[in-house]
Amino acid sequence: MKVVKFGGTSLASGSQVKKVIKIIAADKKRRVVVVSAPGKRFSEDTKITDLLLQLAENDIQKKDNTKLRQQIIQRYQDIADDFGLGPDITNELTEYLKKIETGKYPSEAFFRAALAAQGEHMSAWLITKLFQASGLKARNLTPEQIGLLVSSRPGQAQVLPRSYAKIAQTKLNEDEIVVFPGFYGVTKEGWINTFARGGSDITGSILARGFASELYENFTDVDTIYSVDPHLVKDPAAITKMSYREMRELSYAGFGVFNDEAILPAIEGQIPINVKNTNDPEKKGTMIVPASQIHRKSKITGIASSDKFSALFIHSYLVNRQVGFSLKVLQILADLNISYEHMPSGIDDITIIFAKDQLTNGRKEQLTQRVKDEIKPDTLEWKNDYSIIMVVGEGLVNRVGAIAGIVDPLKDKGISLTMVNQGSSEISIMLGVRPSEEKKAVEAIYDANFKDGKPIVKNQ
Ligand code: ASP
Repeated sequence: MKVVKFGGTSLASGSQVKKVIKIIAADKKRRVVVVSAPGKRFSEDTKITDLLLQLAENDIQKKDNTKLRQQIIQRYQDIADDFGLGPDITNELTEYLKKIETGKYPSEAFFRAALAAQGEHMSAWLITKLFQASGLKARNLTPEQIGLLVSSRPGQAQVLPRSYAKIAQTKLNEDEIVVFPGFYGVTKEGWINTFARGGSDITGSILARGFASELYENFTDVDTIYSVDPHLVKDPAAITKMSYREMRELSYAGFGVFNDEAILPAIEGQIPINVKNTNDPEKKGTMIVPASQIHRKSKITGIASSDKFSALFIHSYLVNRQVGFSLKVLQILADLNISYEHMPSGIDDITIIFAKDQLTNGRKEQLTQRVKDEIKPDTLEWKNDYSIIMVVGEGLVNRVGAIAGIVDPLKDKGISLTMVNQGSSEISIMLGVRPSEEKKAVEAIYDANFKDGKPIVKNQ
């Protein structure tokens, strides 16, 4: 059997849902369907999840929500109308959503998570009805019902391993399609909690592992994963096949097509992933598979970039001789509940790179103060504008001339690097650049390593 996940744009309107139904009907093995909340129908449109988060905020501030609630429900009713379902949808969903809004929650953060999850919950409920109306035998199943348990940091849930046994015990009836909401699970205490944004991919991967699916098909709105963001480079090379860890590093560093955390359950279960286009399902898309199945001659598979980072530069003579120096720094981070991304170090310096969202609510100021008081560095400097470029390819680091092929084109364009980290990953090289030079740098590396939509293969 196959687990199939559809993203927000695939479910944004009745005509999109009709494509989904065709895809499901075309292959009997597509038995478990994970759905996102309806996404954008056009570029200025708002995703249901964002509307629900606004609804939560208004509720918290005791503002009138009548219009916003109607706007959300109308999106579902519009989809239902395309299938000739009556106004009952509006009545049922309005009652249901009000009940969720007036429920009891342990904190405002859990209230937000519970509301955000309803986009997927209501989507799965409606899609089940639409499948049935179209002659498919379908059943709606929820994380609450099967016991998909998650950790309890609101909005940042991680699956608890015991969930897999529960999923495996869930009986799938012959010829029946199960429709399951993505993006959320329940904590041990029974509270709804969501994964990070874009987390329906994670649910799909969890179910694929739990059901020991032969394939995890992830339907989105692009034909393939490209070797570089098509907004940065025109007609870039398509990636037909890549390894799990290549995908993870690229999505971590900015590739939005697939959530970086979603790779992990698939790796654990060794489930191949196929990213495909709902609007053109005949196209082969991109396969994501174990590294042992990758045999290629080119060095670079993809180039990702992101400006979501800030860097803290700490200079203190003889860092290398001070026993426990890093421990003190890490202890401060742990006390403040801040996670970091990378920590390249030199003999007298440490740079700590953070995702900017870790430094909100005064945590950056507290961190700065504590490092000054407790570490007393010679210099402490924040680089708030920090872009990272991740160049990824299986075996990249072991190839002769790998760094030269990446750094030389930057030199030729006069782009200076603020950091180079070959780190311990065998498959990626990370570069720090100024955000104003990010696009130019990505273009330069791409142009030097790809030609006519294909990687350049040199004898090496
Ligand atoms: N609806 C959620 C979001 O917008 C999750 C997802 O679509 O994957 O982040």
